[in-house]
Amino acid sequence: MIKRGLGTHGYLMAQRPQTLCTLCNTPITIKHLFSSCPLYSIPLNRFNLPPNLSQLLSDSSPHLTNLFLFLRLHNLLPQI
Ligand SMILES: [Zn+2]
Repeated sequence: MIKRGLGTHGYLMAQRPQTLCTLCNTPITIKHLFSSCPLYSIPLNRFNLPPNLSQLLSDSSPHLTNLFLFLRLHNLLPQI
């Protein structure tokens, strides 16, 4: 459930264009942030977040608190 809400439909629900990554010029999604964006690789490591999205976003994930702290700190929550 979290996967769909973060980085896939938030911009649609807000009726705004999808935000693009300033470095990669691709849509900012959770998958982009955690799988391929060099801009956030070091900050992700600092929050000890796993690169595996299934592990990160599972309903029983112990990483959700750190995920939201990371997104809030980098002002990414309103963009995805
Ligand atoms: Zn990027």
